[in-house]
Amino acid sequence: MSLDPQLFGEIDPPQRLLMGPGPINAHPRVLRAMSADLLGQFDPEMTGFMNQVMALYRQIFGTQNKWTMLVDGTARAGIEAALVSLVAPGDVVLVVNFGRFGLLLTEILQRIGAIIETVEAPWGEVVPMERIAEAIARCHPKIVATIHGDTSTTMAQPLEGFGELCRRAGALSYVDATATIGGMELAADRWDVDVVTGGLQKCLGGPSGSAPITISDRAAEHIGKRRHVEQGIRVAGTVDGAGPRIGSNYFDLAMIMDYWSEKRLNHHTEATSMLYAARECARIALGEGLEARYARHASAGRAMTAGLRAMGLTVFGDDRYRMTNVTGVYIPAGVDGEAVRGAMRELFEIEIGTAFGPLQGKIWRIGAMGYNAMKHKVLLTLAALESCLVMQGFALPMGAAVPAAIAAWEA
Ligand SMILES: *Cc1c(COP(=O)(O)O)cnc(C)c1O
Repeated sequence: MSLDPQLFGEIDPPQRLLMGPGPINAHPRVLRAMSADLLGQFDPEMTGFMNQVMALYRQIFGTQNKWTMLVDGTARAGIEAALVSLVAPGDVVLVVNFGRFGLLLTEILQRIGAIIETVEAPWGEVVPMERIAEAIARCHPKIVATIHGDTSTTMAQPLEGFGELCRRAGALSYVDATATIGGMELAADRWDVDVVTGGLQKCLGGPSGSAPITISDRAAEHIGKRRHVEQGIRVAGTVDGAGPRIGSNYFDLAMIMDYWSEKRLNHHTEATSMLYAARECARIALGEGLEARYARHASAGRAMTAGLRAMGLTVFGDDRYRMTNVTGVYIPAGVDGEAVRGAMRELFEIEIGTAFGPLQGKIWRIGAMGYNAMKHKVLLTLAALESCLVMQGFALPMGAAVPAAIAAWEA
């Protein structure tokens, strides 16, 4: 047995420009941070980095929550940890669902054995706050779960007042902010939401594989009670209303909190290189300044939308609730959407996204986020798309997209 270098060469991927709904290209500083030397998990340097990550991500999430840390795994690991730790079998959970990722919440909740209620909007719209209020009044949920930006539909659910609404009804709230963290304003404390999770591979400009999470004291207390039930510890006045034990070991947030606490109780081995990546993502975002970063994503979204419209294409979804970092656009009649994506990749080394569910074959999803929310990358993508559409025989006003995008970037 020996290595056949023809079959198993050194990894040397093409330099693709990833302008889909995520993942996107990682910032080179993040890749450099990931190649730093490893440390033992209880080395004071390592636990020092863990504490720094907690402090950095409090700023990213817009919170003072003590429990702000990382769940090891892709964004879905954060979602699953949040839901399995908050929700006990038989709990009523209201899902505010307006796309594929809302559906994912219901799929995870089904496995937990929750009683699932939903309030929905058609794909391309969001759920008005009054309808969420009505649904809460109707089903008295213990937990209300939703998505901030759902990349499947490119819509961002407004969350101003959402947490307060849940809190007044005695419910805990959960938000999946994977697609917006570091790109659109995230205000966990002002929204008064209890648990928010994210990922690195969208607007934070890192690779997938780490899920930042923040947990309010109220939610941490709720999760802690479930641990006490498990351990048979009687804590006067706190066991009441606590569900049965948390049905996952790896995603048990009570145990993960113990690991990130000063107790440093061993749970898993913190994914050291991903922690370096998460730390560098946050340093880059805060170094740029969150306001400036949100404005840059807004410019990129405006430019992309204007450029697509200047080509005569129709942008998908409600303009008022559009995510800034990913834009859906209808594949024009008579054009083979996959052939255009293939030409974009082969001729220009640019990836744009397809769609799924009811939008499959109907729209492309074009992202401009994190390290790729840059003017030249938006312009290159629009120019390349224009060429590929022309090659497919689609008639369009040549040369209109780029100037329209430049003008909209500054607007
Ligand atoms: C991209 C995305 C995810 C992805 O989760 P992964 O496990 O990292 O693939 C989850 N939620 C939303 C809203 C997303 O846009």
